[in-house]
Amino acid sequence: MQTIIIGGGAAGFFGAIAVAEANPNARITILERGNSFLQKVKVSGGGRCNVTHACFDVRELTRNYPRGSKELAGPFTRFGPTETIMWFEQRGVKLKTESDGRMFPETDESQTIIDCLWQATKKHHIDLKTSCRVDQISPIQGNRWRVTTANEVLEADAVLVTTGSSEAIWTMLSKLGHRIVSPVPSLFTFNTKDQRLQNLAGIAVPNAQVTLPDFKQQSNGPLLVTHWGLSGPAILKLSAWAARELHAMNYHFKLTINWLGDITQHALNAQLIDIKSELSKKQVIANAQFGLPARLWQSLCAAAGIADLLRWADMNKKQLNALCQELGACAFDIKGKSTFKEEFVTAGGIDLKEINFKNFESKLFPNLYFAGEVLNIDAVTGGFNFQAAWTGGWIAGGSIGGRPAI
Ligand SMILES: Cc1cc2nc3c(=O)[nH]c(=O)nc-3n(C[C@H](O)[C@H](O)[C@H](O)COP(=O)(O)OP(=O)(O)OC[C@H]3O[C@@H](n4cnc5c(N)ncnc54)[C@H](O)[C@@H]3O)c2cc1C
Repeated sequence: MQTIIIGGGAAGFFGAIAVAEANPNARITILERGNSFLQKVKVSGGGRCNVTHACFDVRELTRNYPRGSKELAGPFTRFGPTETIMWFEQRGVKLKTESDGRMFPETDESQTIIDCLWQATKKHHIDLKTSCRVDQISPIQGNRWRVTTANEVLEADAVLVTTGSSEAIWTMLSKLGHRIVSPVPSLFTFNTKDQRLQNLAGIAVPNAQVTLPDFKQQSNGPLLVTHWGLSGPAILKLSAWAARELHAMNYHFKLTINWLGDITQHALNAQLIDIKSELSKKQVIANAQFGLPARLWQSLCAAAGIADLLRWADMNKKQLNALCQELGACAFDIKGKSTFKEEFVTAGGIDLKEINFKNFESKLFPNLYFAGEVLNIDAVTGGFNFQAAWTGGWIAGGSIGGRPAI
C-alpha cells in the first residue's frame, strides 16, 4: 500500500508515523515543497515548541478552538493532550508544564521535538523528499490518487494533505470540488497610538477584561502594553475569536479594557468611594491602587483629569466617575494589527462539513485525508494548534494504515 503525505510539518510527520505504526508494510512518502522539514516546529514557541496544553477535560479543551471546537470533541477523546504526552514520552521526550498550562519539552528546545519525529520516520523507513512541491492531485481508477509534483508524477492508494495554510493547495482543492472557507489571519496583537499608553511599553496586568463592544466579544487574562499597542493572552484570545469580524473591519475597531478584570462599574465606583474616605489625605496619583503598575495608574489618573498633587479628599464626583471609567471601561481606537511572533495561525481552510471526523477523510473523495491547519480549524495560543495537528495526523494516519476506528 502506497501512501503519500503532502506537507512535511507537524501534522504530516505525525500522520506518516501513524500510518507506519498501524501498518508496518505500508510504503509512505512525505513530499515537502521547502528545502527542509518541520520548519514551523523549529521556530514555534519562541524556539521552545509549545507542544500541547495541560488541559485534560475534552469539553474544556475544545473551548480553545474558535473554529473546530464541535468537530474536535470526538477526536480529542481518542488522541488528546494525555496521549500526546505519552506519545512523546514513549519516544524519549519528556514534556514539562508551565504555570499557565503550556507544555514544552524539558530541554526547552524545539529541536528535541524535531529529532524525535525525525528518528521515528527513519525507524519506519518513511521516504522523505524535500523540494517537492505538489501542484496537482487527481482521483484515478480504483479510488486511487495521482499526485503531480514539479518533477514527477506519482500514484498512491491514499493521500493525506497536511499543507498548512497554503493558498495554492486550497485553490487546487477548490477546483477539485472542496469548499474553502476564505483564510484570514488569527492570533495577532492590536495597534494603537493612544496617548495613555505612550511610554508604558512592557507594563503588564495579570487579569484584564478586554471587550469588542461592536461584536459583543470579550476575553479575560494577562494584558501587555507594547511599543505598538496591546498584546498578551487576553488580546490574542480576542483576536482569534473575532478573527473574521476584525478582518471585515480592516482592523479598525473600538476596544474597551477593564484593567481590573470583571468588576462591574457599579462595584468599582463603590470601591473608589471607600478609598476616597480611607485615604482622604493621600495624593491620588502618587498612590497606585488595585495592584496596578504605578505608571499605568498615573496615566489613567491623568486621563481622568486628576492633577498631580490632588488628594483623594479633594476629588470631585466628575473626576471620580472619570477615573472609574478609565479603570473599568477604558476605550481605545485600534488601528491595525501586528504579528505575534511566538505563534500565529490562519483561520479558514477546508470546510469542516466536508470531513468525516471519525477518520479525517474527505466526505467527497475516498482515500483523501486532511489534517492540521489545512482544515478550517484554529485555536488560541498555548499549544492548542499543535494539539489539533497531532490529533488529526494520528487519527488520519491510523485510519489509512488500517487501525480500527473507535
Ligand atoms: C512563528 C510560529 C510559532 C508557532 N508556535 C506554536 C506553538 O508554540 N504551539 C502551537 O500549538 N502552535 C504554534 N504555531 C502554530 C503551528 O505552528 C501550526 O498550527 C502547525 O504548524 C500546523 O501544522 P501543519 O502540519 O498543519 O502545517 P505546517 O506546520 O504549516 O506544515 C505544512 C507543510 O506543508 C508544506 N507545503 C505547503 N504546500 C505544499 C505543497 N504544495 N507541496 C508540498 N509541501 C507543501 C509547507 O512547506 C509546510 O512544511 C506557531 C506558528 C508560527 C507561525
